[in-house]
Amino acid sequence: GAISLAVAAIPEGLIAFTSIILAIGVQRMARKNAIVKNLMAVESLGNCAVICSDKTGTLTQNKMTIVDAFDGSQLLSNNSEIKNFLNIIELGSLCCDANLTRNEKDEYVVVGDPTEIAFLYELEKFSNFKYKNNLEIEYKRLHLFPFDSDRKMKSVINQNDNNYWATVMGAPEIIIEKCNFGSPSIKEKYLQINNQWANNAYRVLAIARKSLKKETIEKFNESSISKLQEHVENDLEIVGLVAMIDPPRESAKDAITLCKQAGIKPVMITGDNLNTAKAIAKNLGIYSDQDRAITGTELSNISDEELVQNIEKYSVYARVKPEDKLRIVNAWQQRKQVVAMTGDGVNDAPALKASDIGCAMGITGTEASKQAANVILADDNFATIVSAVANGRSIYQKIKNVIQSLLITSIAEIILLFIGLFLFKAIFSSAEWKVALGKSDLYIMSATQLLWINLFTHGFPAIALGLQDSKEDYMNRRPISKYESIFANQMGFNTLWKGILIGILSLITYYLAALYARNNGFNAEDILKAASTCSFLVLGISATFNSINLMTKKSIFISNPIYYWKVYASVIFSLAFLLIVVFVKNINLVFGCYTEIHSKPELLALGLALPLVIIPIYSIHKLIIYLIEKNKIKENKITEFKMILPPKQVKRNQKRH
Ligand code: ADP
Ligand code: MG
Repeated sequence: GAISLAVAAIPEGLIAFTSIILAIGVQRMARKNAIVKNLMAVESLGNCAVICSDKTGTLTQNKMTIVDAFDGSQLLSNNSEIKNFLNIIELGSLCCDANLTRNEKDEYVVVGDPTEIAFLYELEKFSNFKYKNNLEIEYKRLHLFPFDSDRKMKSVINQNDNNYWATVMGAPEIIIEKCNFGSPSIKEKYLQINNQWANNAYRVLAIARKSLKKETIEKFNESSISKLQEHVENDLEIVGLVAMIDPPRESAKDAITLCKQAGIKPVMITGDNLNTAKAIAKNLGIYSDQDRAITGTELSNISDEELVQNIEKYSVYARVKPEDKLRIVNAWQQRKQVVAMTGDGVNDAPALKASDIGCAMGITGTEASKQAANVILADDNFATIVSAVANGRSIYQKIKNVIQSLLITSIAEIILLFIGLFLFKAIFSSAEWKVALGKSDLYIMSATQLLWINLFTHGFPAIALGLQDSKEDYMNRRPISKYESIFANQMGFNTLWKGILIGILSLITYYLAALYARNNGFNAEDILKAASTCSFLVLGISATFNSINLMTKKSIFISNPIYYWKVYASVIFSLAFLLIVVFVKNINLVFGCYTEIHSKPELLALGLALPLVIIPIYSIHKLIIYLIEKNKIKENKITEFKMILPPKQVKRNQKRH
């Protein structure tokens, strides 16, 4: 009655099975360095359309090496020796808070910011560590104004006997503007070298100094430290420029190719110089001539509307501040795209929070950024995001498969119970049936039998579907809009016709079994029990076939059972449990099954053999789909990024054409 119908209509296992699949997926991703903090982020990963990534450390190795230096007249690369630039290296090292030592095995051990470590390596070349230690003893540090991505510089105040001075180190475009040059041509020269290096993909730092008076420091010290900083970081004297290389990560290039093939747009965001960023982005395949690259200053001159309008054209953002990341995320989201954003600093937290997939850096990330993120990259690596996206897509498909398999059975059960109720009331009202059935109540299937199918017969295959990888490539198609229903793209239709097919099959089984039982003189109770037991078998067996059918796009006849062993093993388990319920003495009694079924070959044929007809039907259906899609896939090879629109917007656009 009503309870059976309710049991049939609600796929009890749904929430449990999806949670288990998500949890398994999260565990797997963690093994691949992507620590997903909440299960729902897995779904967003599957829908990801844009990955906005930091350059330094995520796309590059963050292993800085000084390759060139400029002191206003000579270039290191111009057959000069590094010792001629000792002053620059020394002052740079005074700004450093990193540490470089050697362990017992004589290997370098480094702690701190790689940009700063690069100076220490250079200093190392002059002496064996004594240098840095001596520097620190000789020149006492009085103040530190730490680096931040807003100012893009760092400064320190040192004292040596009666000499007091500040060293300022940071982004050349900013430092050079704060320096006084003897002549405009010298300034020109500095800007030109900076530009030239940036075009070579070098990371450039300018070093400047300022002599201070003891009294000035003391005066500001008492009144305001921030005024001291302002004083120190203005009216500077240029010392020189330093160029570093930071090689791209080897895995990044392939990951970006994969992104593009999967219809995902990779975007580079950096505090570094525009030309440096462009050069690296070009090398990695993020930036090409049709793309736009923009600096933070230019970005601040663009209105929000304009940014939203053209957001897909920008591939590189350089010299940006952390708050610009939030604008970028918002613009993409206004265009209804699912955005992944990386970040490591405290100031990145708002953008990480606002993005659909906030990725914090496991190694270099601050606590605040990790708190705000929902994915932590244990290896700080861009490629890890892409592999997490691939995993997200495959998990999404697995969950869709499980939902589909549960719903097919639910639809079949509802058809059997609901239509069966009316159908068999009508059929059983004829004279012959009245004689056989007497006054017995119509009984189609018990709530226990339905629960058994919904939980156990489905349970093993559902979890196996969650564990089973498929040979299908989920990264050769565009992402699915997060606004799209899971029933889109034929899934609703497929679920429906399969459910109806199995429902009709079980109705036929019920009728034929009842007919057989009546003609063979069963008593009223056994007629109904025989019929329900046979349809129970049909429902259960076809439920297991559904999982085999859903695990791959290939037909059961050509898919490799060894590769898909998890699903097959689960099906064997499920079937064993189903058969125990029907065939094992006393247990079948509890479940209200017809206990003598083993001795009735006709009933066995109905219950066990009839469901086999769905196998060829499913195979033919797959063949048709294959033939339709074969040509489509070739046509749909992804060559450029396209926004994935929500279904409603797609319809509106189609009407307009
Ligand atoms: P990103 O991490 O995207 O490369 P940052 O904001 O860290 O960008 O750096 C921006 C600029 O600031 C760099 O191009 C460099 O010139 C300068 N810079 C970076 N790190 C330091 C540092 N530790 N000290 C001084 N200046 C730095
Ligand atoms: Mg940085």
